[in-house]
Amino acid sequence: MDVNSSIKQASMKVFKFGGASIKSPESIRNMASIIRQYTGEQLVVVVSAMGKTTNHLESLFALVKNKKEGQEKFREIASYHLEISGQLIREKENRDEVNSILGQLENSFQKADPNENPDKMYDQIISYGELISSTIIGCYLSETGMAVRWADARKFIRTDPAYREAKINWPVTCKLIQDQLGPEISSRLVLTQGFIGSTENENTTTLGREGSDFTAAIIANCLNAESVTIWKDVPGILNADPKRFPDPKLYDHLSFQEAAEMTYYGASVIHPKTIKPLANKNIPLFVKSFERPDLPGTRIDQGGPHPVYPTFVVKDSQCLVSFLAKDLAFINENSLSIIFHVLDMLNIKINMMQNSAVSLTICVDNNSRKVIKMIDALKNDFSIRFNEDLRLITVKNYSPASIIQVMKDKKILVEQRTRNTFQIVFDPGSGKPS
Ligand code: ASP
Ligand code: MG
Repeated sequence: MDVNSSIKQASMKVFKFGGASIKSPESIRNMASIIRQYTGEQLVVVVSAMGKTTNHLESLFALVKNKKEGQEKFREIASYHLEISGQLIREKENRDEVNSILGQLENSFQKADPNENPDKMYDQIISYGELISSTIIGCYLSETGMAVRWADARKFIRTDPAYREAKINWPVTCKLIQDQLGPEISSRLVLTQGFIGSTENENTTTLGREGSDFTAAIIANCLNAESVTIWKDVPGILNADPKRFPDPKLYDHLSFQEAAEMTYYGASVIHPKTIKPLANKNIPLFVKSFERPDLPGTRIDQGGPHPVYPTFVVKDSQCLVSFLAKDLAFINENSLSIIFHVLDMLNIKINMMQNSAVSLTICVDNNSRKVIKMIDALKNDFSIRFNEDLRLITVKNYSPASIIQVMKDKKILVEQRTRNTFQIVFDPGSGKPS
């Protein structure tokens, strides 16, 4: 790479707009006005599906055996998008493009064979959320006079065939991104989809729910971007969810390490895989409000200070699973390795764990698809106990007062404390409401 091109790429920014920031014609106009403020700069814009479209596509996928009911669901999804595009797009050619991508979704759903690999089929259908949103937004931005290159992320995000949770092939992806996007960014805005990729055989894959942030980080890493900005409906990263805790505090500056740990415990503001590709290249990440783009938001980089407030992370829909050795045996290293092997194969993440002489208890997300497979794989070796609909609260950098606050009036099933982190699992349906 010559010196000039590396200077050019170093001044390039990656923006990511999530579902809430593009859920209506007004919000898409607002997105365009944010982008316009960066006129003259090199930008790659990554978009998610509009609003809650991915959830609706999951409902559509669930109807794959019932094509008639599914067609109704498809019509609902199509009319939501046609309503938005109808208000934003004037040119016939562009409207045809939107109709064509919706037609592809309909086709793909109608042709889906219920006997095929369900995870593969899921990805072929779910990926349309981003394909449709980026098509509508690309046409709209062009009609407002911007020079836009719509780029199909499936042409450069290369993954393995682990459908629903595909892993990135980094060397190939970086080469494809540099070859395909590198030459474009100096002359026009590049608009692409988050969350989706494809295998070597050109089968569409997805990177895991909420994976669009990760796509933005991949592109930034491969193009040595100057920064990534995630535009959100919150003013930045808060120390607690404003819907659950009164008076949350905004972090103006965090370290990569701190932010990565917050996402590990379930802070949903950024996808857990986002930080590493940025930290590896020391690319700062900004989390900013799309409603107040003038405010600085949160900056995440190498030099972030140790946070002054405790961070509260709440995860709902948790289940506690206890594995008990049979016949009064102890849980030993061999039994742990059997359990962990199954968890690893199924890609189940442990949110908390505790062991005793005769049992291992883990707290995991209640993803019934995976939990059922886990129990099936281990029920011959262990007696298994199972509690669901639980809540996990993690307090990072806790203070005595913060522990008293979260424990108040709860019937706690498991409690754990390390030097920095305090966690409880409880049934939110029991105990007095706090
Ligand atoms: N649209 C996808 C989802 O809702 C990806 C994303 O929003 O990041 O999971
Ligand atoms: Mg989303």
